[in-house]
Amino acid sequence: MKVDIAIIGAGPAGLTAGIYAMRAGLSAQLFDMGFPGGQAATTNIIENFPGFPDGIGGPELGQMMLAQAEHFGLNLRYEEVTSLELAGDEKKLHLSGGETLSASAVILCMGATPSKLLVPGEMEFTGRGVSYCATCDGALYRDKNVAVIGGGDTAAEDAIYLSRFAKSVTVVHRRDRFRAQDTLVRRMEGTDNISFAYDTITKAITGETGVSGLSLENVKTGEQSALLVDGVFVAIGIKPNTALVKDMLALDPNGYIIASEDTRTEIPGVYAAGDIRTKPLRQIVCAASDGAVAATMAQADLMR
Ligand code: NAP
Repeated sequence: MKVDIAIIGAGPAGLTAGIYAMRAGLSAQLFDMGFPGGQAATTNIIENFPGFPDGIGGPELGQMMLAQAEHFGLNLRYEEVTSLELAGDEKKLHLSGGETLSASAVILCMGATPSKLLVPGEMEFTGRGVSYCATCDGALYRDKNVAVIGGGDTAAEDAIYLSRFAKSVTVVHRRDRFRAQDTLVRRMEGTDNISFAYDTITKAITGETGVSGLSLENVKTGEQSALLVDGVFVAIGIKPNTALVKDMLALDPNGYIIASEDTRTEIPGVYAAGDIRTKPLRQIVCAASDGAVAATMAQADLMR
């Protein structure tokens, strides 16, 4: 099978690339292994994507983007792309089912996944009290005590979301200033059942069969303490999903694909869109924008 454009990853970048490719009259094939919407689909409510004055649920936005892409004829195939051959005019995508797809252009939209804390107890209790997705698991903690680790937008949004279910939410942040947007910080500060452990790092996640607490250390005073919680939500940033291309494309020191605003990479016919590439702002609206640019650049390059 051969298509004009293969798109890997059905987050906002990949789905928007699909919409633009199909509307440009190109043949395109989208691949993903999970739920459409990427990381956005793990967000409870998105308040900064234009067009939704009351906000929109992340899973709902993902489904709406997919429905729009499918409306223009895009097919989403739930299959893993296991390896790529990107050199030359004809790119090859090797699929987990054994098939090989040829494409004239490849748009890489694999996004990023949550970073791990790498402390004792984290791996052991993942799925048994340690979670990386408040939207997915928050409802399990109704009337329980939980901690959120991190100080960015994700941690703040998670804390606010969890405060609706949980008895208490403690935000454990390694500094005394949040990286999160002011609006979110103010909302956290104004929520009665959210409290803060500043300048604090997590040394271990403790428990027997599931999480029962955190071992903490104040980085300024060295004081050690224990926090009793039933669940912990780790929100300490993201790592780009570049395993497929790490030996083929230049990455920056944080592992993001080096691509400019036109999304072109160093290999002709290969584009990187959304959270996976070097960029100053990682937001849904930026990923969608990248998807549109990538499909348009691919179309222009194919016509040349
Ligand atoms: P982030 O902005 O990179 O923040 C990560 C936070 O975790 C930082 O506060 C960092 O502390 C802390 N941290 C990192 N490593 C740590 C470790 N080993 N131990 C303890 N704490 C650690 O990540 P994010 O919040 O996931 O956001 C990722 C991107 O998505 C950002 O660009 C963000 O703006 C965007 N985002 C946007 C929205 C929205 O607009 N609605 C929602 C979610 C995410 P320091 O501050 O000390 O570095």
